[in-house]
Amino acid sequence: MQSFLESNITYLKGVGPKKAEILKKELGIVIFDDLLNYFPFRYVDKSRIYKVTDVVSDNTYFQLVGKISSLEKVGDKRTRYITATFTDDSGSIGLIWFRGLQWVLNRFVPGRKYIIFGKPSVFKNQFNFVHPEIEDYDVESFKLSGQRLEGIYSSTEKLKNSGLGARGISKLIKELLSQCTNRLYETLPEYILSKYKLLDREQSLINIHFPSNSTIITKASERLKFEELLLIQLQILGQKNSLNRKIIGQTFEVVGSTFNDFYEKHLPFTLTDAQKRVIKEIRADMRNGYQMNRLLQGDVGSGKTLVALMCMLLAMDNGFQSCIMAPTEILATQHFNSITSMLQGMDIRVELLTGSTKKKKRTVIHESLIDGSLHLLIGTHAVIEDTVKFNNLGFVVIDEQHRFGVAQRAKLWRKNKVPPHVLVMTATPIPRTLAMTVYGNLDISVIDELPPGRKPVSTSHLFEKSRLRVLGFMREQIKLGRQIYVVYPLIRESEKVDLKNLMDGYANMLHDFPMPEYQVSVLHGRMKPEDKDFEMQRFVEGKTDIMVSTTVIEVGVDVPNASVMIIENSERFGLSQLHQLRGRVGRGADQSYCILMSGYKLSNEGRKRLEIMVDTTDGFKIAEADLQLRGPGDLQGTQQSGVLDLKIASLVHDTDLITKTRNLGEEILQNDPALSSPQNMLLKKQLEQIKKGKQNWGRIS
Ligand code: ADP
Ligand code: MG
Repeated sequence: MQSFLESNITYLKGVGPKKAEILKKELGIVIFDDLLNYFPFRYVDKSRIYKVTDVVSDNTYFQLVGKISSLEKVGDKRTRYITATFTDDSGSIGLIWFRGLQWVLNRFVPGRKYIIFGKPSVFKNQFNFVHPEIEDYDVESFKLSGQRLEGIYSSTEKLKNSGLGARGISKLIKELLSQCTNRLYETLPEYILSKYKLLDREQSLINIHFPSNSTIITKASERLKFEELLLIQLQILGQKNSLNRKIIGQTFEVVGSTFNDFYEKHLPFTLTDAQKRVIKEIRADMRNGYQMNRLLQGDVGSGKTLVALMCMLLAMDNGFQSCIMAPTEILATQHFNSITSMLQGMDIRVELLTGSTKKKKRTVIHESLIDGSLHLLIGTHAVIEDTVKFNNLGFVVIDEQHRFGVAQRAKLWRKNKVPPHVLVMTATPIPRTLAMTVYGNLDISVIDELPPGRKPVSTSHLFEKSRLRVLGFMREQIKLGRQIYVVYPLIRESEKVDLKNLMDGYANMLHDFPMPEYQVSVLHGRMKPEDKDFEMQRFVEGKTDIMVSTTVIEVGVDVPNASVMIIENSERFGLSQLHQLRGRVGRGADQSYCILMSGYKLSNEGRKRLEIMVDTTDGFKIAEADLQLRGPGDLQGTQQSGVLDLKIASLVHDTDLITKTRNLGEEILQNDPALSSPQNMLLKKQLEQIKKGKQNWGRIS
């Protein structure tokens, strides 16, 4: 019967080649099954006909019956649109079209009754319906349809223009379902249905599209979400298992003198409990015989670098070389500096390899990597070049991983016959639910504690009128010996504009507030690497008081004496970026400050972001909020994972279901790793189906 649902959508009554083409392009709907799994995003009570005078809010849908008059083209040639008046016995409201103008003019007959449906919006200070759905009002058929709750499907302009607005899509699905009687087989095993009290598949599909009442919508969607999430978990967990099963790794048996010596004599501070725990987790992973693939999560400033370093010492104790790869030259250099200074007095050789390493130095590095005398290589992308060969690479750290592509990471893997252990460090925390899905095939360690004595960064949101106060505050802080960052947004369209913005802002600042007595570093993306390093280095060494920069400063930079972060046009930054930037201060023992400057005009979302920043410094909370505001689409890693194809479940709202299905998935695979028992046959069949349908997801690391 599978074959019926696999029929091409053109075979459905009401879909010709043209509509099929548009459905494919706009919604990815190709076969019957795709349409069946295109779910409403909300429901409205369509049996209700409102009056024009009921339209008092722009956040619900309204259905009105009335007549259309005074259709009229307005505006000039460039901004032409159509207005019309819609009238019922209570009053009139405007209709507006910006596109398909000729069609609109031809479509409506003055005096005839229409039924319009849509969400009002405010235009020129009045409620209007922009591009409403309109049908001829036919009393008989309206009564017949008689159904109360109707699903609203999201549609696009192109679809609407081809008669496939929310209601058009609904009609197609109704037609499809009418042919599906006795064809919607169960896809979940009976034992799961009864254990979790899930609605059967047929009832779920019918009711998600055409609910008989509102409680059944919840049951239907829960069942469909459950199934969707369970299948995702089974895929990810299955992949993780096969990864662990197949890939033999180096076994790091000993904790030796290098590690112990460092721990006892060189460690500049006591490890936090979280750091200790994570090191233990990694250590256990490195000696179990399989290759480690682990994600290290920790908030900004939680001390991930030190953990990486200590694991590298473990590798060294076991006779292996290590490599740390960072996304930028600045970061690599900084890792190099801080690590060499921590390792001072120990007999460990560390080198830095970046795009700007001189040829002579490069040759020396290449040679000492091959003869094994070099223990730790720190660098940028330069370390993955083919000319870089190791004697015995055992451990790889990838810092701020989202900046590297999968292919680049795989290259590092291949630098040893037996692949090295891999530790991926994130720049910013990822919400748990997302980590469970997107990074489900990596093991995860979390540093959930900051080093003691850190005071939360005091954060405020200020407008231009407070500029003088801000400048005065900067002066005070510099007098106290502190350093200051001033960051300007990166405007992606053009680095030139970006630079101009930075320079203008900087010039304005100096104009209002001359600070000849202070030294300033300037850093932006168009500078040569060596100039960047020079400017950065002056700031790190305390030779400059203010660092004026674009977001190149964003990730990882560590200057404990810097205590003020001023972010200009902060409304233009995303939450995780703001959090990263703020993380540049508050790294020493001093009270630190983050000042978010913004324009007066803020979008709702922009305002919300700044509020969240002022409210909390907890990176995990910020990550959750980010996910809620933006959805998972923009978050790191999601593109590769397939979670964006979710049809009904939501990574933001269905956290309970994610945890439930994660646990169930683990339980199932534990008892039946190959899903070969009869009771899991349905699951196995579905997974095979999915595999057939799409490319294998590829390893994250
Ligand atoms: P991130 O996790 O953001 O990469 P870093 O590794 O850069 O954090 O560490 C932030 C700062 O905290 C560094 O200056 C580091 O030396 C310091 N640090 C790390 N661990 C500890 C600790 N256990 N106690 C005190 N300071 C620490
Ligand atoms: Mg870091």
